[in-house]
Amino acid sequence: MIKIYNTLKGELEEFKPLKAGEVSMYVCGPTVYNYIHIGNSRPAIFFDTVRRYFEFRGYKVKYVQNFTDVDDKMIKKANEEGVTLQDIAKKYIDAYFEDTSKVNLKEEGMIRPKATENIGEMIKIIKTLIEKDYAYESQGDVYFNIENYKKEYGELSGQSIDDLQSGARINISEIKRNPLDFALWKKAKDGEPYWNSPWGKGRPGWHIECSAMSNKYLGSTFDIHGGGQDLIFPHHENEIAQSKCGTGGEFARYWIHNGYINIKGEKMSKSLGNFFLLREVLENFEGRVIRFFILSAHYRKPIDFSDNELIQSKSGLERIENAISRAKERLAEKVSNEGENLESLKESLENTKDKFIKVMDEDFNTAGGIGAIFEIVKDLNKALDEEKISAKGLEIIEETIEYIRTVMEDVLGVLLKVEVQVGNMTSELVEFLLELRREARDNKDWDFSDKVRDRLQGMGIKLKDGKDKTTWSI
Ligand SMILES: [Zn+2]
Repeated sequence: MIKIYNTLKGELEEFKPLKAGEVSMYVCGPTVYNYIHIGNSRPAIFFDTVRRYFEFRGYKVKYVQNFTDVDDKMIKKANEEGVTLQDIAKKYIDAYFEDTSKVNLKEEGMIRPKATENIGEMIKIIKTLIEKDYAYESQGDVYFNIENYKKEYGELSGQSIDDLQSGARINISEIKRNPLDFALWKKAKDGEPYWNSPWGKGRPGWHIECSAMSNKYLGSTFDIHGGGQDLIFPHHENEIAQSKCGTGGEFARYWIHNGYINIKGEKMSKSLGNFFLLREVLENFEGRVIRFFILSAHYRKPIDFSDNELIQSKSGLERIENAISRAKERLAEKVSNEGENLESLKESLENTKDKFIKVMDEDFNTAGGIGAIFEIVKDLNKALDEEKISAKGLEIIEETIEYIRTVMEDVLGVLLKVEVQVGNMTSELVEFLLELRREARDNKDWDFSDKVRDRLQGMGIKLKDGKDKTTWSI
């Protein structure tokens, strides 16, 4: 039974999907006017892990994450650089994929819609909102009419409309009826990109895009909506208002929000100027280390980012990898039937399997999950200290490393780099030979390709050719 801390309720709740065995989730994506910083990488990595965990637990997941490719900051950037909005969007979407591919996001089956490709859907919802008196047009802009949604507004952020109103800046413009009314549609100024609408030339407000895209791909009621804590108010609050009034559904049933990444105790953000780009961090640390670092803390807690923390994550990851390479080397040795059966390792493996599910079921506690892995790694190392291990014991070792690999790579998405001494070669050399063989195969040089395969086989290394990659084992 998976439990989720639902921001909407302010407590842990048992997850009951709308459709048995299926999960629909929507996560707010980046505004593509700059390279992503390490703080933006946290929701990308965490929600990718949520998806992977649901799949591990047997669910079919439909996962939507948008790209905001039109907004004020993007228009400003395009003007500064003297290029079009589309040029800016393309540049930073390409960069997003380039950077995030290194932290191993699962792209397969993901739906990544762009705001500008869904303007028609947004206009449709805005029209409905106007018809129902939940929105009004004012001098070419359209605003959500808070007055008619007073009772429920603030349910996600836990703020009352009175608190919000007294906190809102006194609005001197005559365009809005209430300072809390937010833009659904903005009239285009001279020289700005625009789309035609019933209210003239303009562009959508930011919040409406997520209402439109989640509705298009997941329907008016779906399971999970995610994003960073900074999006709770006003973005998610406004999404709820628009969607409930405009599509008639319940909207998202579970709201999951990840915490910030801090630097020296202060939130990392573009506006504070204390941020590190993911691509800068990738110059010094591998993506798998960054991913492991992000998942080492509970997602709702803030994480302190520093080189030191990353170095620690790297050494933790190496501890896991070293145990696996030790185990693989041991497996490559000749087997005798005499020796330890490693029953205690078997028991510890079964306990770890239960524990991993138990902690991850409790609100995706990746920190606890990693803790469980460290325990089994300790027991694996202890087992490997045995002088003699029986064939049965070796089977348990094999099962243990396969389990560690599955959890680390498939569920947590942290790819392991295991160096194994194979005869008088290292696994790095094997990888290099495979790379040469792959090039030869691309050039249809089958003689060379077969020669590499046969020689490696002679050294006890088995190759398995898959669709786009060759794996090897000893
Ligand atoms: Zn959003």
